Amino acid sequence: MDMTTTTNRIAHSALVIALVVACGSIGLAGDGSTLYYTASAKTDGRGVVRSLYNVRSLAKSGSAASAARSFLSAHTTALGIGNVTLGTEQTVIAPGGAHVRIAQVHRGIPVYGAGVSVATNAAHQVTMVSNATIADIEVATAPQFDAQRAVILARAALHTGDRAIGSPDSASLVVFRAADGSDHLAYRVTITREEPAGDWELILDAESGAILQQQDMFVKYEEGQRVRGSGMVYVTDPLSSARQAYGANGFVDAGDTDSDSLNAYRTRVGLDSVTYTGGQFVLQGPYCTLADIEMPIDSMFSAATPDGFDFTRSQQGFEAVNAFYHITASYRRLLDLGFSSDRLAAIRVDPHGFQGQDNSHFSPTGNWVSFGTGGVDDAEDADVIWHEYGHAIQYAFAPTWGGGECAALGEGYADYWAASFSRSAGAWTAADAQFNWVYKWDGHNEFWGGRKLNDARTYPFGTLSAHTAGQIWSSALMSIWNDLGRDVTDRLVLKSLLYLGYGATAVDAAHAMLQADRDLYNGVHIATLVHWLGSVKHFIDPSIAGGSATDVEDDTVMPQSFGLAQNYPNPFNPTTALPFTLASAARVRLAIYNVLGQEIAVVADADYAAGAHTAQWNASNQAGTAVSSSMYIARLTVVPAAGGEPMTFTRKMVLMR
Ligand SMILES: [Zn+2]
Repeated sequence: MDMTTTTNRIAHSALVIALVVACGSIGLAGDGSTLYYTASAKTDGRGVVRSLYNVRSLAKSGSAASAARSFLSAHTTALGIGNVTLGTEQTVIAPGGAHVRIAQVHRGIPVYGAGVSVATNAAHQVTMVSNATIADIEVATAPQFDAQRAVILARAALHTGDRAIGSPDSASLVVFRAADGSDHLAYRVTITREEPAGDWELILDAESGAILQQQDMFVKYEEGQRVRGSGMVYVTDPLSSARQAYGANGFVDAGDTDSDSLNAYRTRVGLDSVTYTGGQFVLQGPYCTLADIEMPIDSMFSAATPDGFDFTRSQQGFEAVNAFYHITASYRRLLDLGFSSDRLAAIRVDPHGFQGQDNSHFSPTGNWVSFGTGGVDDAEDADVIWHEYGHAIQYAFAPTWGGGECAALGEGYADYWAASFSRSAGAWTAADAQFNWVYKWDGHNEFWGGRKLNDARTYPFGTLSAHTAGQIWSSALMSIWNDLGRDVTDRLVLKSLLYLGYGATAVDAAHAMLQADRDLYNGVHIATLVHWLGSVKHFIDPSIAGGSATDVEDDTVMPQSFGLAQNYPNPFNPTTALPFTLASAARVRLAIYNVLGQEIAVVADADYAAGAHTAQWNASNQAGTAVSSSMYIARLTVVPAAGGEPMTFTRKMVLMR
């Protein structure tokens, strides 16, 4: 199936949808103000729903975009989007359903990083929602200077000249909410430079010119007439092909020199498409183009015949052919799995860049990847090439990639993409240490230690660096790979990226894997996913596997049973909501107990009609005194008005002040 992008503007409908939630045997009905099963939702400190997982809304006729818009209008309060303006949407059709991303605007100006992403399955049922909207924006209406001036101010702040690399400098107006909560009309300026090296993004206040945020978006790898042609490459890396250790029998970098061993383990491969130009053949294909973007300056690695791309590893042309071959293979892999992306097909590749450092990076703004040459040339190791391409996939599939735990996740996904490829070559078995290594030629040697795929640590990431935390995510994914195989796991991983928006955490990413399985495979692999992502790595609570937020259009539907749902938010401070349902009218008493079993507050004590209700507790006792951080127990007692046995339900909840 092709991925196509369409844009539409669809009026908000006033559909009334109650969100009904199944939680074990307890049915829970919404009243329009929305209830949900908390294990299927992530709320922020203000109780706004930031993610909804495993939703199953009613199937809708019409487009995925209209199903998404309907769902959003029905859940305006829960999502905190009452005063949020959503702009034009972008719909990506992918295997397993569509992904609708709607950017937030404020008086027609894009709000930085803000928007909502809604996934639908093949039946146009909403399945997952990522909500990165910003409410209650208050901002000036007119800039005090123009975009050209913004670029000049940004260059001055960076102490850089006007010679751009890769992509031209640009500036455009955005609305920006700073870390302190203040709103600004601002310019987002992008500048890519070798000096100071970076894919710079600066946010400048459009009134004062002050710099509100500055970051380098280069995604770094630490330490680190068309015709068919052919050439010599490493199909993964020379050590794997030879099953040798670094340092043995001529398998050393030795300043990028040739050895009989390193020459012998090259392989002749077909080059998908090379381009004839100016009397020679060059490495420009449909899925990537070699280019000289950064220092050092390269010639453009041509050959006199299409089958003439034969270089040894000491020659600069070798890295060019190796990068061209693997990036083309990486994109073809996406096509084989049913995915595609115009942005990825347009990628440019500098086989010798990054000022010769032992490091490589991907530029989200300029959409190019550049490989360093310190230590082992990075573009000699397929793991490095596939890793950097993994970053390119993230930005192509999740255009607002960033914030939250995206830095760590990004490294983890990129290591996964590399390892999924190289492990599939079958050079190493689980008995070999190299089976669990990434960068088997570029790293794990005298230059740097490489990374691993069997990190025993669990979530949360704590204070680990992005690359180290990323190992926890890649280790989980590769464990899944061992159980489900490359094709299924690659599809789940690629699909999962499409659900994620700005600020995604590893919890979102784990839920997105589950949702991908439901939408692609009807959920047949859920148990395996929950085992690795839940029981082993703690990204999700393993007990939530069956918990689903089900959306029912009939707002007169009555719950089938009595029950007390989990409070939300939880943990909470200081206020939390306690939803309960009544299958028929009843006398209700909802009391709060401390861990000693003493009743400390009563939050409901009255007759209630059948339906869904929500009580609140503000963490104070009956005397109105605030209680301290601890676990508390909510106990609901129901006596049906029509007679029958009294019923009790309890829930544990945690107050964290
Ligand atoms: Zn990376």
